[in-house]
Amino acid sequence: MPLFFPNGLLCPSCTQPLNKIVHWKWGQSDGLKPRLIHNVEHTVLIVAAVYTFVCEHTMVATDPRILKMLQFEQLPFILLHRTGFTKGFINSIIQLVWGGMTIVQVEQYVVNCRREYIASLYVRLKLVVPETTSLSLNSVPFQLLQLPFPSNNVICKCFIAHFQEFEHTYSILMQQITADRFISLDHTFKIASNIGFQRADNKWVTQYQSVLFVMNEIGQVIAWQLTRSTSLDEVKSLLSNLAARLIRDGELLVYVDNCCTLRDKLICMMGSTTCSIQVKLDLFHAVQRITKTVSKRHPFLHQCMADLKLVFRDSNDLVKVRQLPTPDSETIGKNLDDFVKKWEACGVHEHWNNIITESTKKQVSALKKHVTKGCLSGIPKGAGTSRNEVFHRTLNMHFGRVSRIGIPLALALLTILIYQHNCKISEKVHNKSAEPLSLLRKKCSHEIRLE
Ligand SMILES: [Zn+2]
Ligand SMILES: [Zn+2]
Repeated sequence: MPLFFPNGLLCPSCTQPLNKIVHWKWGQSDGLKPRLIHNVEHTVLIVAAVYTFVCEHTMVATDPRILKMLQFEQLPFILLHRTGFTKGFINSIIQLVWGGMTIVQVEQYVVNCRREYIASLYVRLKLVVPETTSLSLNSVPFQLLQLPFPSNNVICKCFIAHFQEFEHTYSILMQQITADRFISLDHTFKIASNIGFQRADNKWVTQYQSVLFVMNEIGQVIAWQLTRSTSLDEVKSLLSNLAARLIRDGELLVYVDNCCTLRDKLICMMGSTTCSIQVKLDLFHAVQRITKTVSKRHPFLHQCMADLKLVFRDSNDLVKVRQLPTPDSETIGKNLDDFVKKWEACGVHEHWNNIITESTKKQVSALKKHVTKGCLSGIPKGAGTSRNEVFHRTLNMHFGRVSRIGIPLALALLTILIYQHNCKISEKVHNKSAEPLSLLRKKCSHEIRLE
């Protein structure tokens, strides 16, 4: 007790000192019922002492008002309404998800760990009890041990609890990531379509259309937001905060998938007297617009797509990965015409139609308008040439395979997965492995909370 409350425990309501501690009263009332605390291998019962203060107020040791007096680090568990989990349980689950497991796989993992644990207890007990004692895995003590497994719901709550404790840390850590030369803005639609909530009449209501990811030149997410539309007005404060965070004297290139529509607004929202904003079309999206018109099974697909990439190359840039900035608009325009001409002439293969379809030509002519305006020129190497496929695959794995996902869980999962993605890139690029989250939490706790 003195270890946790060095100045003595005072009544949370009227600060009177503690009078006596009585022991748990065997669940005589609802408030005194033991609580289930989940661990990976087993569930334990938490049995709280009952405190009586001089003022005659009485409360159990697990009362939220008492727990609140302790520092986060002092508590080895997190209590929910009726159940709870140890911090070790949360940590294991977060690590498993970072390792690539989905929530359903984590649930199965916990079930397997528990079966293994109970079996090992059984084997140990068999060694010490007399041969004549009848003991099987169906005996009462083992049946009791098997109940209850943490459900999918408990595991989801575990993410939310972790997110609530580390939200500030995650936010500070993301704000520390910068961009040197350019950023890209990318709306992703698939993962947002299942995020929603259950209305009072039990109808599931989806809330968002997309997630906006802002990435730096090495592919780290430096800001993100769930959005109801692709309008920039909805992310106005995200962009102005970002501008304040990133912009220094000179120029910042911003890549988007609809350059000419967003240009003026972006310049207005992010530009300053000392920093000019250049808005370009994301090269990945530009190439995608043409690739999507081509049959994925066409025998010439690979050759044709390799040629398409060369359209945006400087003629002196001959190595596998683009090294020079994309050429001027005249060159790209001519390359694009040559590309269409070449494949129109030789794109027919046995019983396949020409690889260049009417829809390809339509996309090419739409793209040419942006080429002429310089939306695809002067793009430095490494910028927007490929989307981070691994990151999108990870997100789709978690969000694409479930039909419904609540907003708190979605926010928690996105935050946790984005942090992991950023750490992986940092490890690869800066050769710097991430510090344990609890240490970072300690370091971040003195930083001012940003709303
Ligand atoms: Zn009191
Ligand atoms: Zn444009």
